[in-house]
Amino acid sequence: MQIKIEGIHDDRLHRPLQNIANLFYEECELVYGGGEPADVVISLDCSQTDEHVTVSGEVKGTGITEQHTKSFSPGMNEKEAFKQVKNTISYVYLNLLQAHTGITQKWGILTGIRPTKLLHKKLQSGMPQEQAHAELKKDYLIHDEKIGLMQEIVDRQLAAVPDLYQVKDEVSIYIGIPFCPTKCAYCTFPAYAIQGQAGRVGSFLWGLHYEMQKIGEWLKAHDVKVTTIYFGGGTPTSITAEEMDLLYEEMVRSFPDVKNIREITVEAGRPDTITEEKLAVLNKYDIDRISINPQSYENETLKAIGRHHTVEETIEKYHLSRQHGMNNINMDLIIGLPGEGVKEFRHSLSETEKLMPESLTVHTLSFKRASEMTRNKHKYKVAGREEVSQMMDDAVAWTKEHGYVPYYLYRQKNILGNLENVGYSLPGQESIYNIMIMEEVQTIIGIGCGAASKFIDRDTGKITHFANPKDPKSYNERFEHYTDEKIKYLEQIFERTTKQH
Ligand code: SF4
Repeated sequence: MQIKIEGIHDDRLHRPLQNIANLFYEECELVYGGGEPADVVISLDCSQTDEHVTVSGEVKGTGITEQHTKSFSPGMNEKEAFKQVKNTISYVYLNLLQAHTGITQKWGILTGIRPTKLLHKKLQSGMPQEQAHAELKKDYLIHDEKIGLMQEIVDRQLAAVPDLYQVKDEVSIYIGIPFCPTKCAYCTFPAYAIQGQAGRVGSFLWGLHYEMQKIGEWLKAHDVKVTTIYFGGGTPTSITAEEMDLLYEEMVRSFPDVKNIREITVEAGRPDTITEEKLAVLNKYDIDRISINPQSYENETLKAIGRHHTVEETIEKYHLSRQHGMNNINMDLIIGLPGEGVKEFRHSLSETEKLMPESLTVHTLSFKRASEMTRNKHKYKVAGREEVSQMMDDAVAWTKEHGYVPYYLYRQKNILGNLENVGYSLPGQESIYNIMIMEEVQTIIGIGCGAASKFIDRDTGKITHFANPKDPKSYNERFEHYTDEKIKYLEQIFERTTKQH
């Protein structure tokens, strides 16, 4: 599929236009200007004065046209003015594509990952709720249903973290452990099959302990509190019970005031890694929350995606975790796994009903570029747009009926049917870390393999990203360097601003 765009001469607009095209077409190439004929030709004409920008557009040869004007607010800087132009072009372009394809985009021109951030920003600036909603509808073409979802989530987040707009003075910590029993077909996380890697695991843990000590020392010396700690990966429970014990002991020794940290989560995503010994260790360190991820309740699907555990094992390990005192368990389900449709997903929901975990995260399958599934797309038969949408509606209805509330959401590129991933929980059982990471309200320090740090300037909100390497070999060679770099960023963020706060 090829779309030719005429009248756009600014390269900075290519990516937003591509992102919008991806909402309508699975594989779509955009070409600009003259040359060969394309499947669709769209011409966009943009005229600007000091006061406003007007964009007119047309899908050539179809009679479909659109025009829209937006004003520049007084005092807008160049960046804000460009954003206004970009949004006006997107607005016209989206309407043209909607009319041409007959597909309606409920998120409007918004293609970003974190829609709720936009609403938080408006509300935090003191804008009344009604006005914020009206702007989302008018400027971004977001439908009422999605605005309602955003508001519901924002309300839950503020109930779970009443000081959400003040936690920028604290940090959260993400600890990445890059090992799993086997690699799942859709996975792009740093996840190395742990079998036969004992030496590498040992060196990795050595580096991890070092990072925890150094970062912890810095936080203590600068009196910076930790809001949440999250062990992810990989599967953090794929290491031995003894290694876990030493790691959590390090956590308690290194980080400031661990007993008052609001939440510590350990992903135990793969049920095949959970044992009584490991649960005893989690208990010993008062881990608040774990994840056990079924993804699907069909053994055939689990096999097809390379998870190497059974449905029965998921259920058994869930009960075992309960018996060992785990009272905040999250479970992940994925909509649109290969070979699965409405029937299979409804079965997953009815199995979930028997367990009633404290939270349920519903993902929509995303074809990430680096995954096995994307490389061999032809091997995997997945549901179409309408069926995926039906499954999403089923998840919304089921969660509502069973007392769950949505508390975070994120969208992904290349997500089936342009839907979203939603975290639901029973009220009061929301994961605080998930709220922190989604809303980008505070610095997250990433430790370990593939751990991404985000340093958030406390005055401007500007985000600086820093990533540790994904593979254990590179990490093991240079973990001291990565630690030093992060401390430099922390110094910039906290030392400079401590004086003013
Ligand atoms: S369990 Fe999670 S991290 Fe591990 S391979 Fe599967 S998807 Fe990747």
